Amino acid sequence: GGENNEGGYAYYSEEMNRNTLDLLRIETGLLHAFEYNELLLYYQPKIDFAQGHITGAEALVRWQHPERGLLAPGDFIPIAEETGLIVQLSDWVLEAACAQARQWKEAGLEPIRIAINVTAREFTRSLPDRVRAALSRHQLTGEWLELEITESMLMHSTDRVISIMEKVCLLGVTISLDDFGTGYSSLSYLKRFPINTLKIDRSFTTGIPGDTNDCAIASAIIGIAKQLRHKVIAEGVENMAQFNFLKEAGCNELQGYLFSRPVPAADFHLMLTEGRKF
Ligand code: C2E
Ligand code: CA
Ligand code: CA
Ligand code: CA
Repeated sequence: GGENNEGGYAYYSEEMNRNTLDLLRIETGLLHAFEYNELLLYYQPKIDFAQGHITGAEALVRWQHPERGLLAPGDFIPIAEETGLIVQLSDWVLEAACAQARQWKEAGLEPIRIAINVTAREFTRSLPDRVRAALSRHQLTGEWLELEITESMLMHSTDRVISIMEKVCLLGVTISLDDFGTGYSSLSYLKRFPINTLKIDRSFTTGIPGDTNDCAIASAIIGIAKQLRHKVIAEGVENMAQFNFLKEAGCNELQGYLFSRPVPAADFHLMLTEGRKF
């Protein structure tokens, strides 16, 4: 998880390249997973620093493997990427998140943003239509959905990317920039994109408050977000020292084990109805 999704995944997928049999096994397994409903979403709450209440959740995919137990995305997303199954997986995630939101809506909950992770590969011209169709299939407004994209997607064919993002925004769906600070950052381009939130990568949160560089980077990201009138959230918040620093620095929201690990839908629903606060 977290910063592992870059380093860890790359290493893992190199290993897998060497072992074609393993790759095939997981690919076949994934096809089986779609057919037999072995995939599920966990939800990790996002908390407002000032009010201490839940503002949304990130949906994180899990695979309930028949033999290997509950697998984290690091175990299968790289293979899904290599084999092209990521397209099917992403469609599944969008559909599953909307189906879940619909259940929460029907249970009487106010709209709460469910964030899904969108890969470069699915960030295409058809994305706004796929999002619109999923929302309408479940009679949801865009207030229920957020897309987390990464910085690297902003680097290429800017006009095309902006046009896709604008169509998504017109649906009322928000966009956050995931793992911010880890990619190639030209700050000047940031203001051109209709982004709502910057998400400080866990690799920076981890070093707070001991590592002065990480503290400086986190503060700088918060400063940029304020200047551009974006919200800013920190991921991977695990302790009170990080909490206090980030709150003091003006960060708007937090996500991390300090408040909750990613949990099954029923547990997240309970947190919401109990009005669980910090
Ligand atoms: P991410 O988008 O950076 O998601 C955050 C990861 O950090 C999650 O790992 C989460 O469980 C973990 N995390 C959250 N809070 C803490 C904390 O306080 N401490 C620590 N040590 N870790 C924390 P997870 O669920 O293993 O997901 C890993 C990555 O897999 C995600 O990184 C994301 O890039 C990818 N991923 C997850 N679900 C999906 C999906 O549905 N579609 C796609 N395309 N990618 C996904
Ligand atoms: Ca991360
Ligand atoms: Ca994410
Ligand atoms: Ca992230």
